[in-house]
Amino acid sequence: MIIINRSVEKRYNQYSRHLQETFNCKVYKVTIDAGFSCPNRDGEISKNGCIFCDSGGSFSQAHSSLLPVEKQLEESISRLKERFGAEKFISYFQAFSNTYAPVETLKSLYDRSLSHPDVVGLSIGTRPDCVDEEKIRLISSYTKDYLVWAEYGLQTVHNRTLELINRGHEFEDFVKAVEITKNRGIKICAHVIIGLPGETRQDMLQTAKILAEMGIDGVKLHLLCVLKDTELEKMYNQGRVQLLSMGEYVEVVCDFLEQLPPSTTIHRIAGNGLKKILVAPQWLCEKFKVLNMIDRELEKRVSCQGKLYNKA
Ligand code: SF4
Repeated sequence: MIIINRSVEKRYNQYSRHLQETFNCKVYKVTIDAGFSCPNRDGEISKNGCIFCDSGGSFSQAHSSLLPVEKQLEESISRLKERFGAEKFISYFQAFSNTYAPVETLKSLYDRSLSHPDVVGLSIGTRPDCVDEEKIRLISSYTKDYLVWAEYGLQTVHNRTLELINRGHEFEDFVKAVEITKNRGIKICAHVIIGLPGETRQDMLQTAKILAEMGIDGVKLHLLCVLKDTELEKMYNQGRVQLLSMGEYVEVVCDFLEQLPPSTTIHRIAGNGLKKILVAPQWLCEKFKVLNMIDRELEKRVSCQGKLYNKA
């Protein structure tokens, strides 16, 4: 029997719906750029960065780090309240690697991001090789009073792809990060890129299956897209990279959702906001069309998130 997820409109466990149910009001994430760097860009690991990463820290929609954290929060919160009637907020450290600094610096920035009375949670985007016991202890200390997420950029479980995209870490680093983060009150979200060079549909589903086995709390899916001034742009212009069509992406996303446990929260399955720096595919800007197609595809399959979870 197929159990449609709690959301009446969606056949997957939408994070926004999950937040609304948890806090009983509209909760939005507020992106913060705290001026962090990344070891895969500053020379610690490499100076080139991941092949898809642009100078803004890839996929980041955060503010300019020239503004103090409090000011960034204040501006975004008043805009989100006015525009969407949002009531509570999660401080989201998004750009670059937001645990890549001494623990005292991290504490000061996280504390400041929680100073606004309407902030109920903290989400920290980072690389899995940028956390250690001390940093996790600090992050865990916020779980008494706040909803806390560690968002790890994994992208894929396949080391050959991680090498190809110059990620600078291996799947095993993600496993270690999960081990020290689990059972500390911190929820774990894995960021995954669909359509990475050289990956088959089976490879992508393998990533879903492994995340399901590991009991990851949340997943954020990105489509591989080409941004201006990246290594990927060069490869794309040389014809060395094939991008997925909208239909292919929709199918893989539905396959992916079927493999995950019904309880995994889906933080994102369609992107937006990249128009100015997007080279291809242009259909990425049609977020609502993509979301509708995913709904229709799951309906057509008479399927939902978790349908194939734990099935051989
Ligand atoms: S880890 Fe993130 S910020 Fe660093 S190079 Fe890769 S995508 Fe960019």
